Amino acid sequence: MRKAAGTLVIGSGVVGKTCALALRRAGETVTLLDPQAPSRPASYGNAGHIAIEQVEPLASPAAVTSAFGRLFALGGPLDFRLGDIAAWGPWAARFVAASTPGGAVRGRRALGALLEDALPAWRRLAASLDRPDLLVERGHLVVWESPASARAGLAAWRAADTGQARLAPLPDAETARLRRLVSAPIAGGAAFENTGQVSDPVLMLRLLDEAFDASGGERRLGRAARLESVDGQVEVLLDDGQRLTPERVLVAGGVGSGALMRGLGHAAPVIAERGYHLEGGADHWDDLPPVVFEDRSLILTRFGDRLRAASFVEFGREASPPDPRKWARLRRHLSELGVRLEGPVAEWMGARPTLPDYLPAIGASRRVGGLYYAFGHQHLGLTLAAATGELVAALMGGGAPSVDLAPFDLDRFDRGLGQKMRKTA
Ligand SMILES: Cc1cc2nc3c(=O)[nH]c(=O)nc-3n(C[C@H](O)[C@H](O)[C@H](O)COP(=O)(O)OP(=O)(O)OC[C@H]3O[C@@H](n4cnc5c(N)ncnc54)[C@H](O)[C@@H]3O)c2cc1C
Repeated sequence: MRKAAGTLVIGSGVVGKTCALALRRAGETVTLLDPQAPSRPASYGNAGHIAIEQVEPLASPAAVTSAFGRLFALGGPLDFRLGDIAAWGPWAARFVAASTPGGAVRGRRALGALLEDALPAWRRLAASLDRPDLLVERGHLVVWESPASARAGLAAWRAADTGQARLAPLPDAETARLRRLVSAPIAGGAAFENTGQVSDPVLMLRLLDEAFDASGGERRLGRAARLESVDGQVEVLLDDGQRLTPERVLVAGGVGSGALMRGLGHAAPVIAERGYHLEGGADHWDDLPPVVFEDRSLILTRFGDRLRAASFVEFGREASPPDPRKWARLRRHLSELGVRLEGPVAEWMGARPTLPDYLPAIGASRRVGGLYYAFGHQHLGLTLAAATGELVAALMGGGAPSVDLAPFDLDRFDRGLGQKMRKTA
């Protein structure tokens, strides 16, 4: 069958959109495919934080040993949907296997390299959209509510690799300001520099769509049901039965990428790491950068006249129903903090796409010609989206990506392939 010209990007979350735009600007013919389901993805519901300080990978011995104390049942943010154990059980086994001291060192190195250019890439992208105001660069704040957690928390952040971000104890003026806003005790805090936020995730997604349309890209409604290898080249079967035969396909469908890649024989153990938010009017909140209440694993971010409270890591299937206890817990946190959301308060749940070593998958398939992928950006998909778009455009354009993509190769999960490669080496 003759191939249609151009690239099909599957998935129009923030990663798919930045990649599609970068490819189009590099001169590619690009179609961006998404069903635009009414349940909005993580790219809409996230906390808006450009979190370049999060260099320490979440797959580490410390994350494994602290997991019990972070369980939802004990007041923490971490939960597992029992009915979905078949989905997260094998993932958890891989996560534990990846969480060795050596794995954590490799993860930090790999993530550090990606995060190094994350903020400059966002600056370039916002400037290219003629909206430098999309990126708000005034750091973020972390606070603790007891002297013990403040001491331990500040010491932990000081010992951590925070990449290009810098931190200092929260200045007295900021502490006093927060004490006026929050009725829970603020025992201490840290002010981070060189991090940021997007001014509004909805605006960010709209601007990316408008720039893509203006550059001549095509957006198409639809869901890829399956990828097939025909004569060694990738083809896409849509759920309405149509078959697409683009020259190249980029899989950037968040959690939905896993099933598509596995259908072609790739190991793609991506899990839905679900989070929740409440959002309402910000009349009673100051014009502050994102504030993390670390004892509660809660982040408050102001987007214009709205205030969003986000939390939780709940492992399960993306499509399983939300757990209303999470919104109830968020309401309790806000009430204990004395933070009011005005007007109708919106509830949202959505899934971070997370691989067991907490590194994204960015690369080209060795199994099927014309197949590329960019997914699994876990807690950092917004932060890394602009940089990922640039890297994918370089990779697919035949140039040299500015970061070594070897640690993000999906074949790292393919034990059989690893053995074969070792034997032939
Ligand atoms: C509560 C919460 C707070 C967060 N806060 C932050 C933060 O402050 N900073 C940060 O950097 N990150 C944050 N994240 C993580 C970030 O939101 C995600 O990493 C990021 O949105 C992932 O983007 P994505 O485009 O890969 O996937 P998604 O946003 O999930 O988008 C995937 C898209 O692909 C489409 N799709 C899926 N399957 C198919 C298919 N078969 N065919 C066609 N289309 C398909 C879907 O419809 C969807 O539109 C947060 C996440 C959560 C849940």
